[in-house]
Amino acid sequence: MSREDELRENLRNVRERIQAACQAAGRPEGSVTLVAITKTFPVSDVRALADLGVTEVGENREQELKVKAPECPDLVWHFVGQLQSNKARSVARHAQVVHSVDRLSLVTALSKAAVDEGRVLRCLLQVSLAAYGPADAATGVNRGGVEPADVPALAAEVAAADWLELGGVMAVAPLGADPDEAFAGLADVASRLRSEHPGADWISAGMTGDLEAAIRHGATHVRLGRALLGTRTPLG
Ligand SMILES: *Cc1c(COP(=O)(O)O)cnc(C)c1O
Repeated sequence: MSREDELRENLRNVRERIQAACQAAGRPEGSVTLVAITKTFPVSDVRALADLGVTEVGENREQELKVKAPECPDLVWHFVGQLQSNKARSVARHAQVVHSVDRLSLVTALSKAAVDEGRVLRCLLQVSLAAYGPADAATGVNRGGVEPADVPALAAEVAAADWLELGGVMAVAPLGADPDEAFAGLADVASRLRSEHPGADWISAGMTGDLEAAIRHGATHVRLGRALLGTRTPLG
């Protein structure tokens, strides 16, 4: 099977999963946007997905974003990874949406970069769901995120920042957590945020392993890598 055929089949399966999950949740078809996470895969795969109708793509490393995005300027680029402030300028130049805003210093850096670049940047607050993970999760991978209690203050900073648009929330369910509990918690945070900021209505949640649970709990954007592109070879 050619790579194109493989991607076409994967995309069809993914669209079916999303549609079935929407149906089961009593949500309209088309209420969930697919963001293809293309990290570690070549730009030829990004192009192939675009040819199959994918319009939103994401990266989790600035080094990959800055290489791939200029080659596919017709796509909407999302940045979903941990972000150091010194990479904010590059991300503001190449992405339209940042899913991983989790601290004030990053808000400041992104706003300054967006102003300098003359590009509006939509920002999602990455919320920590560590409270839903196993008690020993502190020894695991630190997936980042602002504590739910600190969301209102950080949201106010983004809303007040020049050239940043407060878009909503993003989260990754902790390893070993019940994704339904974790995403229900996220839905709660999202609904409190919306009551203060009605335009901040995106919920970015759900990956290859847990997209159904995320859609049950209101995800508007699912971030799918492996289900579309296959197993990743870890980068160094
Ligand atoms: C890699 C990645 C994804 C996609 O994960 P899959 O399990 O491959 O679907 C989603 N979100 C973030 C933040 C990622 O880094």
